Amino acid sequence: MNLQLPSPLQQIRFRGVDFYLKRDDLISDSFSGNKARKFMWFLDHEMPHIRQVCSYGSPQSNAMYSLSVLAKMRGWDFHYYVDHVASYLKADPHGNYLYALQNGMQLHEEKAPRDLSEDTLWIEEGGRQAEAEYGIKMLAEELARDFGGRDLSVFLPSGTGTTALYLQKHLPFPVLTTPCVGDAAYLKAQFLSLEEDESVHPTILVPPKKYHFGKLYREFFKIWIELKEKTGVTFDLLYDPPGWLVLLEHLEKIGNEICYIHQGGLIGNESMLKRYERKFQQS
Ligand SMILES: *Cc1c(COP(=O)(O)O)cnc(C)c1O
Repeated sequence: MNLQLPSPLQQIRFRGVDFYLKRDDLISDSFSGNKARKFMWFLDHEMPHIRQVCSYGSPQSNAMYSLSVLAKMRGWDFHYYVDHVASYLKADPHGNYLYALQNGMQLHEEKAPRDLSEDTLWIEEGGRQAEAEYGIKMLAEELARDFGGRDLSVFLPSGTGTTALYLQKHLPFPVLTTPCVGDAAYLKAQFLSLEEDESVHPTILVPPKKYHFGKLYREFFKIWIELKEKTGVTFDLLYDPPGWLVLLEHLEKIGNEICYIHQGGLIGNESMLKRYERKFQQS
């Protein structure tokens, strides 16, 4: 597979403000975004003893899909464990779920096994693990080359916080982020579990109100459409709307030029769009 690395850098203007946009969504059609960065280690290293990869989480997750691509590229079996697959998804497979199955993912609606054989590579939910540092450091190096010596702030929305943490660890610029899963205390705990040295933790911008992960909010859909219309860029529907809302809220305090990291996730938009259309169809 051809990976477009370094990923493209672009300038956009939104609501009268100029931003740089790091297009990690364009790394490739199928292996892209921050999941490509997080799993790059497993692509670049010989792992002759590995025959299968095992993980768990949501049946809609971007990480699940990216792992199905990785497993296919490496010729590994891929076993994925979920609590439950919703009946509407089984009846009408789409998005990450459909394409991961098409890549050969073997889905199990049960608890993940504890005892793993030696030929099994275990991946934490969402790719929250130390090997992620390798690929995210490459992203940091690309940004450092492009912006060396400038007064820049980097912004990206967080789930597990793994991407933001390793970026800050390897960047001379402040990295700003906001929690999309859980609250600021949860995100801080995630940072601490990966890195004890708080001096390399990103700065957490607190959302103006409490949002629940994966829930549909009219203001999310509105800003997603506005971004698409005004910048021509399709953002992800899960992390980017809260990300942009929080970033715009804090602009005056930031002062610096800002580089927003587009972390991919566009295949997941298929299921989010279906849900948004169903919910807001009338209006
Ligand atoms: C996984 C994902 C995130 C969150 O990344 P973390 O490293 O878990 O914080 C953000 N945006 C998109 C599009 C993702 O797929």
